[in-house]
Amino acid sequence: MNIDLLARRVFLRKLLALAGGAFAARAWAADAPKWQHDPFALGVASGSPRADGVVLWTRLVAPGAELGQLLPHGPLAVGWEVAADKSFDRIIASGNAVAVPELAHSVHVELRGLAPDRWYWYRFRCGSAQSSSGRTRTLPAADSRPERLRFAFASCQNYERGHYGAYRHMARENLDLVVFLGDYIYEYGIHAGEARAHTRGECFSLDDYRARYALYRSDPALAAMHAEVPWLFTWDDHEVANDYANDRAKDLTQDFIARRAAAYQAYYEHQPLAATALIDGAGSGRLRIYDRYDWGRLARISMLDCRQYRNHQACQSPERGGSGVVDEAACPERLDAARSMLGAEQEAWLEAQLKASPAGWNFIAQSTLMAQSENGKGTERRYWTDAWDGYPAARHRLLGALVEHKVRNPVVLGGDIHATWVTDLKLDFDDPKAAVVATEFCGTSITSTGWSQSKTDAVASRNPHVKWARSDRRGYTLVDLDAERARVYCRAVDSTATPNPAIETLAAFEVVSGTPGARRIA
Ligand code: FE
Ligand code: CA
Repeated sequence: MNIDLLARRVFLRKLLALAGGAFAARAWAADAPKWQHDPFALGVASGSPRADGVVLWTRLVAPGAELGQLLPHGPLAVGWEVAADKSFDRIIASGNAVAVPELAHSVHVELRGLAPDRWYWYRFRCGSAQSSSGRTRTLPAADSRPERLRFAFASCQNYERGHYGAYRHMARENLDLVVFLGDYIYEYGIHAGEARAHTRGECFSLDDYRARYALYRSDPALAAMHAEVPWLFTWDDHEVANDYANDRAKDLTQDFIARRAAAYQAYYEHQPLAATALIDGAGSGRLRIYDRYDWGRLARISMLDCRQYRNHQACQSPERGGSGVVDEAACPERLDAARSMLGAEQEAWLEAQLKASPAGWNFIAQSTLMAQSENGKGTERRYWTDAWDGYPAARHRLLGALVEHKVRNPVVLGGDIHATWVTDLKLDFDDPKAAVVATEFCGTSITSTGWSQSKTDAVASRNPHVKWARSDRRGYTLVDLDAERARVYCRAVDSTATPNPAIETLAAFEVVSGTPGARRIA
């Protein structure tokens, strides 16, 4: 590591420590700016909910044609208020945070001391400007037995492919949480003839990624959904670069470590993550995002990171990184027992979470398809190396741990493939008689386009553990859970070409407690 980078990390860590203390804010409050524009144009958000707190987020930005440009200011004091009611008549907590230019004037307020299982409202102020308000909530107490949990999960929102109208409908679903499973941004450049256009070329620098997050957040339906409920997050590849794995991108010539560090920092700056995510400080190129959330004893949601620690995709050609579709016989590396999707540390962490879980339902929320998806022709067997099919030994270890520890009602949630796949997860996918050990719902994309339905039908037909597969529609998946059953609704918009699409339920499924595997109910 070079000295400048090291000095910068130490400096950022000090700033973060400072930002944690409200005392620092007073010094700057005196010269609070009189704004000529709305510095809170990116809106507000909340996330990382706990039974006693939640992280509140906003970011102050400069005016200009391209949203997300840095303000010319130094550190700014940002006041925050939390109320027990929508009209802010009953303020129950308030304070000051410091927004520093090194973190793009983002604000992350880590609230503590709130009551469990309650809704709260929050807003920010800086100088003459006040933000819009957001609504958030705490988790139920760890030992409580909540009757119900309602959440939606979503992924893959390529801005150029259309509007985020799905979120307008999601906002009316009376949700407790949103679970986002990756591809929040796409790093790609500008393409002609799309529904909307990126504002600059492919993202490489910190400045590029910051501008990209700002562009995506400028969609009013997405911004409104962030203000509605807390979100849980994981990422997939496009938050950095298509098909990257750990320290390797598809294009082996670039300085990928610097690019990943920039992308990870921008991710932190634009999502409501706790500062503990910044393991070695901002810009270190490491971000700890895997975590678990307990909805009392009803459900445990483990959010996994399937990108940062994985082995490189199997059987890459020498000149190139990224994924491929490989013949089973020609790629023995794929089957190597040492290969990991999560990395040894996260894998051990997940097993411990599952083993100790007191919850009636155990959601494993991660970024891609877990079930085997053999996609050859005739007797030839082929697998895509980017999803869990590229890491079959790691998949087998995970599913084996579910059996070994008698984990109650495991349900795997995923994204990435721009399609909804409802599958039975088994220790041996090639044995039609093998027991179902977990239920999988891999959900469709918000906007990103998928395979043709005929291609999906052809692949699904080769994989009898796939119960339902639709790649022709965009939307999100709703989960309505009680102790007895999980009901899962595949919601689809009729168009991404308009900000105000209609919605319909393409299919609904039920998982009954004690019986793994989804049953279609509508
Ligand atoms: Fe995607
Ligand atoms: Ca992806």
